[in-house]
Amino acid sequence: MILCKTISDLTKVLSAKKAFNQTIGFVPTMGALHAGHLSLVKQAKQKSTCVVCSIFVNPTQFNQQSDLVNYPKTIDIDLKLLAESECDVVFIPSTDEIYPTGLQKMDASVLGSLTTVFEGAFRPGHFDGVYTVLTRLFDLVEPNLVYFGQKDFQQCLLVQKLIEFQQLPITFCMGDIVREKDGLAMSSRNIRLNSAERKAATEIYKALSLIKDNWHKSAASELIAIAKNQLELQQLIQIEYLNCVDANTLQVAEDIKNGVCLIAVNCGNTRLIDNVLLP
Ligand code: AMP
Repeated sequence: MILCKTISDLTKVLSAKKAFNQTIGFVPTMGALHAGHLSLVKQAKQKSTCVVCSIFVNPTQFNQQSDLVNYPKTIDIDLKLLAESECDVVFIPSTDEIYPTGLQKMDASVLGSLTTVFEGAFRPGHFDGVYTVLTRLFDLVEPNLVYFGQKDFQQCLLVQKLIEFQQLPITFCMGDIVREKDGLAMSSRNIRLNSAERKAATEIYKALSLIKDNWHKSAASELIAIAKNQLELQQLIQIEYLNCVDANTLQVAEDIKNGVCLIAVNCGNTRLIDNVLLP
């Protein structure tokens, strides 16, 4: 595995790979890697001859300074895990490499209304930061395929819109959500949960499963109300949103054919998101 810390190193390594017509599969991450990230590397490996993984904690997508400061960093373990997963190139740039002229953000609202609801509404500016960093990383890596997790479902839609809007020759691939044995979606932020919060957090997937398993049996509004009541019994959990929407537009619809149930909660001081596709 080749480690690149600068754009100039990355460009040299990738131009050599591209000269040999290698297919570049790209997995952007913020590090503190877990099995969810590694499943994307594994999927990338199947369709690309060169897998590039970036580790960059992007400051412009954090709407709270404390979240940025406390974001877990486990770089030595990350490198070991990536090497074991047969990642070919890991790119770990500094903030100055990615933002040489300062932390200006692009305006993600050009990608449409899906950037202003749910995560867009609860984390103002978050998608502007995501849009900015991905535009920069896609420009530097010039991947053939990119891999993102369904865990960040709204981000997946944004990436698809970005590719379409900028007319990039990139194939988008979405990986399934990897969960702990008790159903909690893996997340770098889970290590911040204390044992009581970790226990309460298992109720998130239970609430989503209740909705999914009864999707055609009761009205969506009824299922959402029951799931919310169930979650609200947990004192450590504060719901930000829990809703079932059209999976392409993220709009509430009367009769959802292709749906997704999205949730965000604060569990103690840790914000967690999850979702399930509705059959
Ligand atoms: P992050 O490091 O949180 O920015 O995540 C990097 C990529 O890993 C994103 O595409 C995430 O959606 C994906 N990811 C995060 N958690 C999981 C998970 N539990 N299962 C699958 N993919 C995930």
